[in-house]
Amino acid sequence: MPLLQPDEPPAFTSERVEGRFPCLLLCEHASNRIPRALGDLGLPPGEIGRHIGWDIGALSLARGLSRRLDAALFATGYSRLVIDCNRPLGAPSSIPEQSEDTIVPGNIGLSTTDRAARAEALFHPFHDAVSAHLEAHAERRCVIGVHSFTPRYRGVARPWQAGFLYADAHRFAAPLIEGLRAQGICVGDNEPYTIDPAEDYTVPVHGQARGLPSLLIEIRQDLIADHADADHWAELLAPLVCRAVASVQEPV
Ligand SMILES: [Zn+2]
Repeated sequence: MPLLQPDEPPAFTSERVEGRFPCLLLCEHASNRIPRALGDLGLPPGEIGRHIGWDIGALSLARGLSRRLDAALFATGYSRLVIDCNRPLGAPSSIPEQSEDTIVPGNIGLSTTDRAARAEALFHPFHDAVSAHLEAHAERRCVIGVHSFTPRYRGVARPWQAGFLYADAHRFAAPLIEGLRAQGICVGDNEPYTIDPAEDYTVPVHGQARGLPSLLIEIRQDLIADHADADHWAELLAPLVCRAVASVQEPV
């Protein structure tokens, strides 16, 4: 039996697929929805609403950028705790048995068939659509994933308001990092994480492997949890994203 029933929302949604902006936007942790067949994954009440279930505010920010830039956007429809669309299949964090300090009972002891059903229903539809889009739209010459991060992780406060994870795409990230710093914002440079091919998907697979400059935008979740605040950050970031995209289109 397929994981998603016909009356449930699709694995992913897309907006402005014919948008004119030459950079594709992705939101891989957009939703905290769980397929009905999986119940609540055995989680204690409230856990799925925390950062472990999704990137709070990220979809509002991604939509704000898509609207301002006329940029194509693909966003996932289900929680990262069901299957994480920014992790390679087979990585321990792909279907995590534990996230931060929370055990995910519904993810423990899964059979190969259970894992394959999640990949089939949620992971492959999203990434197949992104791949097909990039192959059909040669004018999309870079990729940005839109994320948010928790202000405290395992009790440790994080100093940054925003971060850019760009691996080796220095030229692409520089206008974003410098642009926010010039406005007095505390910006993480390959922080709060670094891109690791064993633990990341968007940048290594849709970016680096295709030769497309790529990065992840990370905004502290409390700054974008409210829709109006997320829209304010979209307003702040849109001209910087334009500058970053222009910087990788100019000859060196
Ligand atoms: Zn994320």
